[in-house]
Amino acid sequence: MDMSTERYREYEACKLCPRKCGVNRYETKGYCNEGAALHVSRAALHMWEEPCISGANGSGTVFFSGCNMGCVFCQNRMISRGEIGKVISTDRLVEIFWEQKERGANNINLVTGDMFIPTIVTAIEKAKSDGFDLPFLLNTSSYLEVDSVKMLDGLVDIYLPDFKYIRDEDAVKYSNARGYVEAAKAAIDEMVRQCPVTEFVVEKNDSGSVNRNAEGESTSDYSDENKIMAKGVVVRHLLMPGMLIQAKMIVKYLYERYGDKIYISLMNQFTPNGELAQFPEINRKVTDRDYDSLVDYAANLGVTKGFMQVGETAKESFIPDFDMSGV
Ligand code: SF4
Repeated sequence: MDMSTERYREYEACKLCPRKCGVNRYETKGYCNEGAALHVSRAALHMWEEPCISGANGSGTVFFSGCNMGCVFCQNRMISRGEIGKVISTDRLVEIFWEQKERGANNINLVTGDMFIPTIVTAIEKAKSDGFDLPFLLNTSSYLEVDSVKMLDGLVDIYLPDFKYIRDEDAVKYSNARGYVEAAKAAIDEMVRQCPVTEFVVEKNDSGSVNRNAEGESTSDYSDENKIMAKGVVVRHLLMPGMLIQAKMIVKYLYERYGDKIYISLMNQFTPNGELAQFPEINRKVTDRDYDSLVDYAANLGVTKGFMQVGETAKESFIPDFDMSGV
């Protein structure tokens, strides 16, 4: 790691996210439980993102260890507390990008890499300078500082931010994330500023042929399921039990602010993790009735650029094994 570069100084008094721990991550860890060294738990193709992200070939996910959120319903506590993972170099991360491309990935999907943005910037710059041509995607909780998002300007092609809460009291209660709403709004504003136009291209398979007989030029609409996203912003909201009103407020906010500049992905896969005894009001799956109501609300509002989930998705089998595959 080139310690002399200015961007790594961020780790010396870390304020990369709104927690602003101010700790020197070369010596200790902040709330996210991560030092300055890259810590990765899995790198593999993932088929269960939105269809325009995974496509038929899969998304090249890289799961980073640690997390700056503190969600009581976390499905991956061993990962989010940084207890599983392997420390790797920046050069190894670049190699992983190339290995994902060899596996046929449509993109490089950086999952919860928020705490490592300075190093991720270096890795993307290195890969691009070596001719790497897959889109880079940041998959984030949105509990980010705008300056951290700005570091990725021109490097990340697709943003996949969560917008988890519209009321800070919910963010504090369920994710110990004071200031989440303001931070997420500002972070998503910056993502849309960087990627104001959505672009879809025809998906190719590893022999270079197009999949599923697709034809055509790149478009700004996801009108053809044979296409995958090359540029844009998809804001995700996971509906939580008993929080339909807040979910509708989120959809309204997003649509009024960004209109058709973004895609909105409404998710129903909330899965109780067995540790929610203190939070009985969310200790269940969401009902079909609530989810259908949310989707209808979005449609009636005029949202046409969106994704919804079909069928039973709240299953633990959708959670990948964090066995350090591909790391
Ligand atoms: S990235 Fe980690 S150490 Fe840095 S401010 Fe956020 S929680 Fe604290």
